[in-house]
Amino acid sequence: MIFDCHTHLFLPGQVGGAWGAAAKRAWNMEVIATPEQHEACVRGFDGAIVLAFDAPATGCLVPNEDVARYVATAPGKLFGFASVDPNRPDAPRLLEEAVKEHKLCGLKIAPIYQNFYPNDPKHYALYAKANELKLPIMWHQGTSFVPEGYLDASRPVELDPIARTFPDLKMIIAHMGHPWIDECISVVRKNTNVYMDLSALGSRPWQFYNALVSAIEYGVAHKILFGSDFPFFTTQQTIDSLRSAGRFAVGTPLPPIEDDVIESIIHRNTPELLGLV
Ligand SMILES: [Zn+2]
Repeated sequence: MIFDCHTHLFLPGQVGGAWGAAAKRAWNMEVIATPEQHEACVRGFDGAIVLAFDAPATGCLVPNEDVARYVATAPGKLFGFASVDPNRPDAPRLLEEAVKEHKLCGLKIAPIYQNFYPNDPKHYALYAKANELKLPIMWHQGTSFVPEGYLDASRPVELDPIARTFPDLKMIIAHMGHPWIDECISVVRKNTNVYMDLSALGSRPWQFYNALVSAIEYGVAHKILFGSDFPFFTTQQTIDSLRSAGRFAVGTPLPPIEDDVIESIIHRNTPELLGLV
């Protein structure tokens, strides 16, 4: 089983404004991921989560309907996560409609793109709705490149009160909360319902090595989910960067990363862990 828990669909025109310009500055790429490109990325693997994106504050809008239409082409392989801007007054209702009408199976939210404070009590109704519907929440809880985004809303520790309030609500902290990776690990370690994904970390090899060592030393490597952040990286690129992550330690006294730890991450059964199937 090789399952990519973090992939995007970005059709032409869906990434605009601040988001598009900042992505171009940071990654020197046009952010496009068509169904054909996505299909090529996950071909030969067992499946993927595909994320919608409702972030008007920073200019990114990938409708739930588009994700639903695409994932319906590969049932049992592709799983769509809805996105609802928590600032919308009727966010809980929008989430319920999205999952019931479009057969989506999770929620993606991102304080640094949607500009909200996770711990504001007014957003708890949205988390309660996800909990009621047994939908995992994937959080982009880490930094990003968009100047307009709320960096101070994006620390992993912000999620600890939510994890304690909803102990059965499964949550994933994307990108291991970079650059606050040890803070992310501390949230994941103490809350049995919180996981983390390593998507996009392979682009910073020294940070990636240290993130894996830290997760191993804290005993939470089994809570790392495998994901790429396509189109920024492909599934195969992420496998390759994971398999070479331990090279810094070779021939040195630095802590090694054992192959079985790496392979267990690559082969993580995320659909089962998150209850998607
Ligand atoms: Zn992403």
